[in-house]
Amino acid sequence: MEKGQEAVARFLRQRVELGAFDLLFEERMTGATAAKSPPGSLPAGAVPEGYEELRATALACTRCPLAGGRTQVVFSDGNPQARLVVVGEAPGANEDRTGLPFVGAAGKLLDLLLASVGLSREVSVYICNVIKCRPPGNRNPQPIEIEACSPYLRRQIEFVRPEAILAVGTFAARLLVGSDRPIGELRGKIHSYEGTPLVVTYHPAALLRNPSWTRASWDDLQLLCGVLDADNRP
Ligand code: SF4
Repeated sequence: MEKGQEAVARFLRQRVELGAFDLLFEERMTGATAAKSPPGSLPAGAVPEGYEELRATALACTRCPLAGGRTQVVFSDGNPQARLVVVGEAPGANEDRTGLPFVGAAGKLLDLLLASVGLSREVSVYICNVIKCRPPGNRNPQPIEIEACSPYLRRQIEFVRPEAILAVGTFAARLLVGSDRPIGELRGKIHSYEGTPLVVTYHPAALLRNPSWTRASWDDLQLLCGVLDADNRP
């Protein structure tokens, strides 16, 4: 790892351990990356018609065996009118307990990475997972579970209609790209999901375990920024 990358990786780990993120990159929240407000959009805080019905259906879902072991369904966090949809894998123990995706150390790192490019889950990001209920022991999602649950994700993306999608981790990347290739081969380029630009990157939990991927993750975020900034051009 290059010296500069080591410093970034060390910094990220320290910030996650200290839990000090909130104001680090606030000054980078520019108009170019703030929440979208295209002509004819719904007022701030409103949700698309039918969204609550989808959410209520998911919260009561028993379509796959994971329903039997969950504490609660983890549907989403963030703004349903966001510019960016972030798609992760499946809830872990913290998410199952709180009902929110990406909490704990990996969630804090995701927030930090998003903040570093001027995005926040409160304003400009909508976050969800491929799987809405926690797999036992945090095992990998099974194909039958992904097949049962992915219609919720597809409808969520339809409702939000983001300018771009960021798939974090292998399962989100493979599902949305429609490929079985390793994530190392899928990242670093702009894909398309139903016409929406899609960027793939490592899961923040994997990034915490592999600080040498920090540079690649940073490059992926810059690629994402290029997509969002391009979308802002007249
Ligand atoms: S994981 Fe998805 S399909 Fe399975 S019970 Fe939960 S919400 Fe339903």
